[in-house]
Amino acid sequence: MLSVADLVVRYGQITALDRVSILVREGEAVGVVGPNGAGKSSLLAAITGIVKAADGRVTFLDQPILGEVPEELVRRGISLVPEGRRIFGPLSVAENLQLGATTSRKGGRKAPTVDEMLDRFPALRALYKRQAGSLSGGEQQMLAIARALMSGPRLLLLDEPSLGLAPLVVDTVFELLEDLRKEGTTILLVEQNALRTVEFCDRTYVLRTGDVVMTGTREELLAQEDFSATFLGM
Ligand code: ATP
Repeated sequence: MLSVADLVVRYGQITALDRVSILVREGEAVGVVGPNGAGKSSLLAAITGIVKAADGRVTFLDQPILGEVPEELVRRGISLVPEGRRIFGPLSVAENLQLGATTSRKGGRKAPTVDEMLDRFPALRALYKRQAGSLSGGEQQMLAIARALMSGPRLLLLDEPSLGLAPLVVDTVFELLEDLRKEGTTILLVEQNALRTVEFCDRTYVLRTGDVVMTGTREELLAQEDFSATFLGM
């Protein structure tokens, strides 16, 4: 579904991604883990047109997408849950959800209404008139995911959805991702929480200073001493 080949991202003299290649098949949940500064956010930013790639190719459903504006990618079926939620604090929960909706979608997918989305997130229904900025971190993360789902994406990209959340709330986020996966949403999950990510995902790529240094299933990665030593402190 998504193919990233030899992707290069530079910020001036800094090379954030140095010929990174990853593949996400339809229906898969694929993880990308790595320490601070590994290039995880840059990968999602380049895929979604937020930063310009210096080189490489990215295709979605066999169509090249590098250079497309973010709005066009939403129309094609890609939706991003950005790092730090980026919800609009002064607006209400319902208004934040409306902002996630897109009017001219391609590919015949059905986008949910705000009401349907509130059915799916009962906790948000109870808060729908509240200013989004007054919600807890976990509620804001749910809102950010719900907003991204408003465009009816086929591919959901998530940048560190567990960052700063209490363990119980992280469980809720992963349960939601599991439901989405069962419903057929393809997921590319970027996380610092390596153990949760490899446990959830079908396959995970390990990034380090702009390079893919390991890739595999949960079993394959946990069997590698280097993975356990780096990410799990074992
Ligand atoms: P984190 O988990 O801290 O967000 P990350 O793995 O997502 O890290 P990136 O944010 O993609 O990594 O950063 C990769 C490299 O690019 C780092 O060296 C970072 O300092 C640098 N970088 C990222 N954004 C910029 C920018 N706007 N200008 C200059 N350098 C940047």
